[in-house]
Amino acid sequence: MDGKKETNIEVKKRNRNRVFRYICSQGTVSNPDIAYATQMSLPTVTQITKELIGQGLVEENGELQSTGGRRAKALSAAVNTKLALGLDITKNHIGMVLANLKGEILKYGRIYKPHAHEDTYYREVSGELEQFLDEDGTDRERILGMGISFPGIIDLKREMIADSHILGVKFLPFEAVTRFFAWPCLFLNDANAGAYAEGIHSGDRERFFYLSLSNTVGGAVFSAGGLEQGNSFRCGEAGHMTVMPEGETCYCGKVGCLDVYCAAKRLSDLFGGKLERFFEELDRGDQTAVRAWETYTWYLALAVNNIHMILDCDVVLGGYVGSCMGAHIQDIQSRVSERNTFQEGGAFVRPCNYKTEAAALGAALNVIEIFMEQV
Ligand SMILES: [Zn+2]
Repeated sequence: MDGKKETNIEVKKRNRNRVFRYICSQGTVSNPDIAYATQMSLPTVTQITKELIGQGLVEENGELQSTGGRRAKALSAAVNTKLALGLDITKNHIGMVLANLKGEILKYGRIYKPHAHEDTYYREVSGELEQFLDEDGTDRERILGMGISFPGIIDLKREMIADSHILGVKFLPFEAVTRFFAWPCLFLNDANAGAYAEGIHSGDRERFFYLSLSNTVGGAVFSAGGLEQGNSFRCGEAGHMTVMPEGETCYCGKVGCLDVYCAAKRLSDLFGGKLERFFEELDRGDQTAVRAWETYTWYLALAVNNIHMILDCDVVLGGYVGSCMGAHIQDIQSRVSERNTFQEGGAFVRPCNYKTEAAALGAALNVIEIFMEQV
């Protein structure tokens, strides 16, 4: 008996969840619209939307135009009633994003703040976030929590940052960071966060590899609506694949890693640290830029081809380079295609859709998704 009772509750919850997600995905809808789209009965839908209105998650906004019969109530999701923060911690900067239930970025910011493994750093970051929210008087009560994108191995089982070579952090318990912030926090590896932003609103069946080309190179596998973690939370660590035996030394201590050849700074350092300028110069045909791009894409195509051979799925290029390369994706597509054993085109390599603070956004979206699952 108990089992059956529980199942009914679960079904009810699943239905409520489906209805709320549908309303969020639409602008304004009516109960009959929802019933039609979700294939539920009108009384069930009407009951659910009544509950959602009671919870303050759905609002009534007058009536919808009707071609005949009674006019239907216009319903829309109160998408700004709950918000999530995203924080992207990198070696020299922090990125901040405030997102709503629909996953829209309400505001974002990025400031120069070199990481230091000490309390002062986190206290200052917390202060920056407070200021970020104060600027337009964000109601703190609405904040569900904060997702933190961190450039390292995030061990979800032991609740610690197991390793971040780039920041010189090892076995750092989450709690040592979260105690500085006023909200519940969760952690994502930076490439995982970028992949999450890219994948969470795509179709259920979407599976892709996300190659994050920022000042470090990372990767992630997005599959079946979520991230693959691997046995040691290192799934997708493409930055430390060997692409050049006996090659240059990587910051990890090994030689010939992809990170050495495809980190964004490999390009931006040629033009005063400005990646946008690198691409402008490349467009202009500047020989330094052209030669650097030749070398860069040679290694990148090698890595992308290897990844594609193993996983047989799309490869999304993200991070700074993926966000900035624009039409130059074609250079990579043709090089990858040349390498491919199976004579397929290079269309499976594509640039990321989310270019603004993707890692911070992905971390915030993870917070939103946890809330959505509980509606
Ligand atoms: Zn390495």
